[in-house]
Amino acid sequence: MTDYRRLRVALLGAGAVGSQVAALLLKHGDELADRAGAALDLVGISVRDLDAPRDVDLPRELLTTDPEPLLVGSDIVIELMGGIEPARTSILQAIGAGADIVTANKALLATHGPELFEAADQVGASIYYEAAAAGAIPIIRPLRDSLAGDRVQRIMGIVNGTTNYILDRMDRDGSDFAEVLADAQALGYAEADPTADVEGYDAAQKAAILASLAFHTAVPLNAVHREGITQIDADMMDAARKAGYVIKLLAVCERLSDAEVSPSGETISVRVYPALVPREHPLASVHGANNAVFVQAEAAGDLMFYGAGAGGVQTASAVLGDVVSAARRHIAGGVGVGESTRANLPVVPIGHVTTRYQITLEVEDRPGVLAAVAGLLSDGRVSIATLEQTIVTGDDVHTARLVIGTHTAREQDLSDTVGALSASGVVTRVVSVLRVEGD
Ligand code: NAP
Repeated sequence: MTDYRRLRVALLGAGAVGSQVAALLLKHGDELADRAGAALDLVGISVRDLDAPRDVDLPRELLTTDPEPLLVGSDIVIELMGGIEPARTSILQAIGAGADIVTANKALLATHGPELFEAADQVGASIYYEAAAAGAIPIIRPLRDSLAGDRVQRIMGIVNGTTNYILDRMDRDGSDFAEVLADAQALGYAEADPTADVEGYDAAQKAAILASLAFHTAVPLNAVHREGITQIDADMMDAARKAGYVIKLLAVCERLSDAEVSPSGETISVRVYPALVPREHPLASVHGANNAVFVQAEAAGDLMFYGAGAGGVQTASAVLGDVVSAARRHIAGGVGVGESTRANLPVVPIGHVTTRYQITLEVEDRPGVLAAVAGLLSDGRVSIATLEQTIVTGDDVHTARLVIGTHTAREQDLSDTVGALSASGVVTRVVSVLRVEGD
């Protein structure tokens, strides 16, 4: 074996991802050394409980519950504990001691990213985080490096595997949300507490990370508009299917022009919500727990990144790619590549976004109702593109279900108009309001 310079690599966390990273580092050490140009010595693995069951057997002598020596004496620190603390403090300490960092921690980066990048900048260190968005799919490097010379206009991503699994099953079998969620939990696709996934928190963290990179702007998590999928039911899925759509939980990051908000006219919107996607759109064919990120750039055009968004060994692939990059940089020397956030574009609230909508209403089936609904939409600056009416005959009342597809409308106008429809007396029930993306 070539006599490479030796780098000390420390691992914090040996759970689903960390244990696979350790196993691959130990198994493919020689090959990785040839690629990195440095021998990668795994010097220790910090965990909470030395006796916790692990997915793979790891050398007992590498495990420790005392991370201190690892944080001060390593060239590369891989953080795979998750959560905010002690991950944040450990990373800051390791950066202060001269290490480059590899992490998959989206929650931490979405909330404390600027603080960590600033600390790394101060000492010329680098933070690598390919696994923090969309697991094994290479998307961070394409946005940070490959597309650095282009202008990203829009990203539409399916970045949460659990919700995609649930929505895909609902679409295919006509099952209801609660039933599929229970199956997903039994199969290990969903956590016992599924809130982070089904309420869109996990996708919002990834959206903040992707938008920050794509638009060279630090996007705080609280600027991301977030809605989950718990209100999606079998009827909505069925109606979507009949209209040629599928419902997907999307992370949408978009460059907009909004002279009201920004003197340059340039703004961005970052949002997570379930939306109708046309069946022929590439994102509509993302099935199961897979992820995909569809990027539209000014010069490059449309690009699609697809694959496993989670999974211990799959995510370990992205982590190890970062370890090799960190090792190469460490060997080459010089300062790390900092985050580019100088564009500093304002993030607009959801009310400023324009998109198309599908509104489903229940109304009384009597003369004048259609005209009243059309009038309220027109007063609210929401113009009708398509309208489908189905009569539902009950015992003593006749109701009609209206499915209205709109032209592009501003979200604030749409929501005011839906409020006016609800209060009008002609609408019995607003069944659903869904955005349409990707057509
Ligand atoms: P995990 O299975 O819960 O493992 C966490 C590991 O960190 C465990 O080994 C645990 O020790 C250790 N740990 C937790 N808190 C600690 C503390 N206070 N001190 C010392 N060690 C501590 O997590 P994971 O699924 O591997 O995820 C790790 C990171 O990767 C997270 O940031 C996650 O968001 C990200 N990620 C995960 C996936 C995935 O598919 N799992 C995909 C993409 C990104 P014990 O083993 O002793 O309990």
